[in-house]
Amino acid sequence: MANLRVFDLQRFALHDGPGIRTTVFLKGCPLDCVWCHNPESKRYSRQLGYLEKTCIRCGRCEEICPQKVHHISEDGVHTVNFSACLQCGKCVDACPGRALKIFGKDLPHEEILKIILRDRDFYQRSGGGMTVSGGEPMMQFEGLWELLRAAKQEGIHVCLDTSGQADPEKYRQIADLVDIFLFDYKITDAKLHRQYIGTDNRRILDNLDLLCGLKKDIFLRCPIIPGINDTEEHYRAIAKLSGKYDAIRQVNVMAYHDMAKGKAEQIGMPYILAEKKTVERDEKRQIYEKLKEYGCLHLQES
Ligand code: SF4
Ligand code: SF4
Repeated sequence: MANLRVFDLQRFALHDGPGIRTTVFLKGCPLDCVWCHNPESKRYSRQLGYLEKTCIRCGRCEEICPQKVHHISEDGVHTVNFSACLQCGKCVDACPGRALKIFGKDLPHEEILKIILRDRDFYQRSGGGMTVSGGEPMMQFEGLWELLRAAKQEGIHVCLDTSGQADPEKYRQIADLVDIFLFDYKITDAKLHRQYIGTDNRRILDNLDLLCGLKKDIFLRCPIIPGINDTEEHYRAIAKLSGKYDAIRQVNVMAYHDMAKGKAEQIGMPYILAEKKTVERDEKRQIYEKLKEYGCLHLQES
């Protein structure tokens, strides 16, 4: 039986599929989107997080760490050598400021399901359920399959948030356990896809075709990042997909926000879009207008 490596678990989520949901976030992703709003999800390995604003510079982490990851200078500057950390958790337990945490906890699917089932009444009343997200949840296929099967046996509605970048055979195997695929569609131009995501989009488009062919319900999730994919070509392509496949029940615009910057700092990762600003409400309206202009179907405006 495989454990699942979880980096977050959010109850009462309202934006990860219909109704009130519990969203389970799994660690690890085969893609490398420059704007990733969950940078702590990218690596499968567990990672130390340090939140400067709650650190009281008490020095306990420096004393306890066998790897000398922490150093606090005489003038109170706390530096963290993330690459030397072995994720033993000693400093996390010792920290009085709750400034430290380890992202990534290995849990058996039964334990996750127990948490999911706590809110069964809310799911039933609101038409919600469980969503598994990431990272790319298909990377932890064995544990994922067990979790989804157990959830279905309990009659829980299941959404799977996927980048589309996984083995097509695995999508075939898991399709019957998923009610709605939240399927990301990020960049149309293959060259830009490679530049900003690290790979082309061929496999993603093939898998979208596969799931639509299996008549699975799809919510197409489209992150819009100004200066990267807010192009006429991309809007046109989203609209075209919405008309091509009956299986696409919704098109969701996921407008860029800059929360990832702080999260990247917390785990010591560089964030190359540090200067980019969150898309404001009126800019989001313009995105909707563009999509409508190109005839986008099932557009969900929020
Ligand atoms: S988790 Fe362990 S190795 Fe990593 S910084 Fe803390 S005490 Fe050091
Ligand atoms: S133990 Fe926590 S509060 Fe104290 S210096 Fe380290 S990170 Fe800051």
